[in-house]
Amino acid sequence: MDPDTIGRPLKALLIDLDDTLYQDDNMPRLVKEFIQDYMHTKLGIPQEEIPHKCYEFYSNFGTTMAGLAANNFDIDEDDWHAHVHHRLPYTKLLQRDEALRDMLASIKLPKYVFTNADRKHAHICLELLGIADLFEGVICYESVMAEARRRGLVHKGSPIMCKPNPLAVKLALEMAGADAATTAFFDDSTRNVAAGRACGLYSVLVGRTGADSGADLEVASMHDLRGAMPGLWAERPHAARAAPAAAPGIGLGPGVAAGRRELRRQSTAELIRQGADEEAEQGFGVPLPLSGERGILVPAQE
Ligand SMILES: [Mg+2]
Repeated sequence: MDPDTIGRPLKALLIDLDDTLYQDDNMPRLVKEFIQDYMHTKLGIPQEEIPHKCYEFYSNFGTTMAGLAANNFDIDEDDWHAHVHHRLPYTKLLQRDEALRDMLASIKLPKYVFTNADRKHAHICLELLGIADLFEGVICYESVMAEARRRGLVHKGSPIMCKPNPLAVKLALEMAGADAATTAFFDDSTRNVAAGRACGLYSVLVGRTGADSGADLEVASMHDLRGAMPGLWAERPHAARAAPAAAPGIGLGPGVAAGRRELRRQSTAELIRQGADEEAEQGFGVPLPLSGERGILVPAQE
């Protein structure tokens, strides 16, 4: 990719699913209802305690499920995903997005979905949006957790590994066979975007602009990428060029480049200390299976 937009070439894209590749207010509202219903009907948590616990778990552990696991609730993963996602009226909420498809298809870089949600949810959404075939793979709950378990990673006492833990970002990079310095990451969550930046990825907040989020770039929608990141469509230059000043109006703030250079100097161990326990640090020395053995990365189409 021509570096006109961001000052460095890109070789891969990691893209969140929910509220990033589509935006529908009903989806998160229903998921929240289903989560709270699960906590009451299946885990026996009193109704009056649930909103506070949801907030506490989401804030401290990344997802409610991760917080529940850290607090010794015995959760059947398949049952959880079936309850909080698979009951969604998908066909009423999502429809084919031809403009999104055309835009993504025209970006000649490997693209990976990177979501905390489960594989079935991701695949249903991608199929309904009409973009499932455009991704090299889907990095989802199952794929991240398979690798986290293999390495024995634990975060704040929870075995659930998910964004915004920098370890989850690093696992996703490894699964995609991508380097942080040449990967762009798109997500609607400011804290996920912050984790991406901490890992050295060019990180784009999707869904809000003017949020002073600390993201490298903010766009209201993925549909706005043509205007905001024109370099995604540029021919790869034959020689490195000097990084240009940030284009006006696309969310690049002063000090971003310097900050990113500083972040890039952070070692894996430092990133791990930011987001995980010592068990995680020990586990992160375990290499991923080599290319060609990436069974943990769920193909976009099966
Ligand atoms: Mg999201």
